[in-house]
Amino acid sequence: MEHERKFRWANYSSDKCKEYLRNDFSYECAYCKQTEKACGDIGSEFFEIDHFNPQANSTNNLDIHLYNNLFYSCKRCNNEKSDFWSEYLLNPCETDIFKNDKHITDGYDSSKLYKYKEVTNEGKLYIEIFKLNSRHQIKRRQRRKLYENNIKTINDLIDEILHKLLIKKNIPQKEELINQLDGLREDKNLNVTSLLRDENFEIVEKYLSSKGIKNTVIFEEYNMDFKIKIGEKTVYCELIIDNTSQDYNDNKIKYIEKDKLKIWFENLDSSFGILFYFRKTNKLYLFNISDNICKEEIDKLNVKYCARLTSANLI
Ligand SMILES: [Zn+2]
Repeated sequence: MEHERKFRWANYSSDKCKEYLRNDFSYECAYCKQTEKACGDIGSEFFEIDHFNPQANSTNNLDIHLYNNLFYSCKRCNNEKSDFWSEYLLNPCETDIFKNDKHITDGYDSSKLYKYKEVTNEGKLYIEIFKLNSRHQIKRRQRRKLYENNIKTINDLIDEILHKLLIKKNIPQKEELINQLDGLREDKNLNVTSLLRDENFEIVEKYLSSKGIKNTVIFEEYNMDFKIKIGEKTVYCELIIDNTSQDYNDNKIKYIEKDKLKIWFENLDSSFGILFYFRKTNKLYLFNISDNICKEEIDKLNVKYCARLTSANLI
């Protein structure tokens, strides 16, 4: 397959849906592979959520909005595809399309035309639906290849200079030069990969750091969004945003689905919990699940666990 999704609880209306898709689709369009980076400043604004099985096709809206039917798509591909549906439309999360030239050969061949060529009828349909051989798409692929080649040339050059520095003796400030070059390479790599993150994640990152809590956004399986360090303990956390509550009372009740708890307990080794962020009052609570609930307790639950948040949970 072209893209592999992580196991996540999300749907079209989830706050984190687009951010999860961005991550699972490596910040590029699921269909034409346009990257956010190549869109410059507008980046993720040029990307939308596409319903693979289109909304117009739905008799039961809920299924259509499930995470596995949603794809990170550039505006162009989303428009081209629109409400089109066919059982022959290739699903990039289920099959190789470009990989191993299974359905489409990727056009980076010696002819330098960057034109895609179909290998199968499904590949032909895919090229037609997303207009992958339009002038725009071909130009875009040419630019991307050029960019990738430039980056490679710079990397090779840095390697060559580093190598020369390392084998030559008696170069004044040799150590300093090597460090500078290494730093340069790091800066460049950072520049290539750094992209803006969803606002909610950025707010919570800053919030945690302002309280002296080490944190990393990890976007791991099972909605594990953050890794934080509380004292000596590392806790993996899902971030849940609450946009509703306006009250300033510190005591709150939150419900956690039994099925979700079961999966967490079955699959996670480390400490885990939920970070509840209340946007309106700018308050962040940590509910450590592995410290508060034991596995046996979950079996006795009906559908949901009731988590009581108090000022003791406030970060
Ligand atoms: Zn696209």
